[in-house]
Amino acid sequence: MLQPDDPVLNGLELGLAGPVSVQGQLQAAGEGTYLWRGNLHTVVRGECRRCLTEVLDEVDIEVPAAVFSTDSEAADDPDFYPLPERATQVDVAESVREELALAIQTELLLCREDCAGLCPRCGADLNAGPCACRTPAEPV
Ligand SMILES: [Zn+2]
Ligand SMILES: [Zn+2]
Repeated sequence: MLQPDDPVLNGLELGLAGPVSVQGQLQAAGEGTYLWRGNLHTVVRGECRRCLTEVLDEVDIEVPAAVFSTDSEAADDPDFYPLPERATQVDVAESVREELALAIQTELLLCREDCAGLCPRCGADLNAGPCACRTPAEPV
């Protein structure tokens, strides 16, 4: 469980409206190597990426598979996290943070799927209807 003020979440451009709960399974995958798969759940608060309305978005993210290893040769894997020798526990916070950051950029924070956004010219909220720069005479 990561609280919204957990230092690992610093720098993410989001407001967490609740704690991040993380569930997962760690699997041994050879000498000094572990696979972690899990999912995380939280609620984020932010502005709709298109129209800047405040939105609350419930988040359920599957973390595909993070590789934790003391073996630096495994570092080619994009989901690789170095593990200190003799580590007795795996800190998944960093991988959770990355998954969250990715989700925010790609899928979260839309007030609705078909949000029309703001007019790039006058800034009017197009969800409320066409703006003055789109007069009926103008071809759409
Ligand atoms: Zn919107
Ligand atoms: Zn406009």
